[in-house]
Amino acid sequence: MDVRGYAVMSEQAPLTPWAFTRREVRDDDVAIDIEFSGVCHSDIHTARSEWGPISFPCVPGHEIVGRVSAIGSAVSGFSVGQRVGVGVYVDSCRTCKNCLSGMSNYCEEGFTGTYNTPERSGEGITQGGYSTGIVVNEGYVVNVPESLDPAGAAPLLCAGITLYSPLKEFGAGPGVKVGIVGLGGLGHMGVKYAVAMGAEVTVFSHSESKRDDALAMGAHHFVVTNDETVFQTHAKQFALIINTVSASIDLNLYLELLGLDGTLVMVGLAAEPYPIKPFSMAPQRRRIAGSTIGPVSELQEMLDFSAEHNIVSDVEVIDADYVNTSWDRVVESDVRYRFVIDVSTI
Ligand code: NAP
Ligand code: ZN
Repeated sequence: MDVRGYAVMSEQAPLTPWAFTRREVRDDDVAIDIEFSGVCHSDIHTARSEWGPISFPCVPGHEIVGRVSAIGSAVSGFSVGQRVGVGVYVDSCRTCKNCLSGMSNYCEEGFTGTYNTPERSGEGITQGGYSTGIVVNEGYVVNVPESLDPAGAAPLLCAGITLYSPLKEFGAGPGVKVGIVGLGGLGHMGVKYAVAMGAEVTVFSHSESKRDDALAMGAHHFVVTNDETVFQTHAKQFALIINTVSASIDLNLYLELLGLDGTLVMVGLAAEPYPIKPFSMAPQRRRIAGSTIGPVSELQEMLDFSAEHNIVSDVEVIDADYVNTSWDRVVESDVRYRFVIDVSTI
């Protein structure tokens, strides 16, 4: 299948147009004409080799919404014309205990990322959603409810699930005090889901300018973190804090906001390590946890929950030729709150 995309062709190069070929549709594959593709900070960490060396060319993009253009002969769950989504991974080993228990996002061999990952079949490296079409095994495709705006739905495939999953797993619910650190692509989805789950939500941001937006999204409180005395004011008050920040920050300040048995969940993936003081953890029996996106079944559950609660991402839809500028703006925390590429402009 011939497609057009935007790729990083070499180390530290900008994204440029690139025509390439996808595999032909196999029996259990779904081919998708991509409509919208979200810009995740992980695309930038990856393409700029912040997490280690990568394969070039690299077409990023793992927040994909489009319509099915063809299906393989054994596909039962999807039909041509249906609106569907693809998230952060497109395959897994399917045999380890995590895959067998439906938690393939924690595949013990490592899932096959939607881009920059060797195909399990040995047929080259995966290429992502900044492109006009993709072919994916049906087990890694989800239905996107027609009631959701497709551009606003694209970021749910990564940013949405990355917050929905730990909020559920770590007990966000009525009356629970939840903190969301960083109001970017992930953080703003965290606010919307935590509010919908009934939690009392506080946003911690280093930008005073995002206060009105956070409150409009339903957050109950907004704290600007550039003055460290605010951490004393809120000490021991939270049950759950989710850190979405893409850079290394002082986690000790956030740990001290947790009450007894409170949990700090790390979803932001800064390249540098974080120094932790034992005295920020041992008192109050505090915990630090990690979380990575969510399994395909939970992706579907999250999309259905989003349709029921009318939740989509706040997006700035861009033409493909704006994508390099959008990356610079993401790095500067100047995104309100997710860039989404209109793929018809590629
Ligand atoms: P984003 O849109 O850039 O949001 C990150 C936010 O962090 C910014 O909007 C900003 O919020 C805050 N921030 C950035 N730099 C900061 C600094 N130097 N000091 C303090 N705060 C800062 O990024 P994103 O797409 O939401 O992704 C966030 C992180 O999660 C990235 O590292 C990404 O790779 C990772 N991620 C993880 C998963 C997973 O499964 N675990 C999935 C997707 C992404 P304020 O302006 O409000 O402070
Ligand atoms: Zn992502």
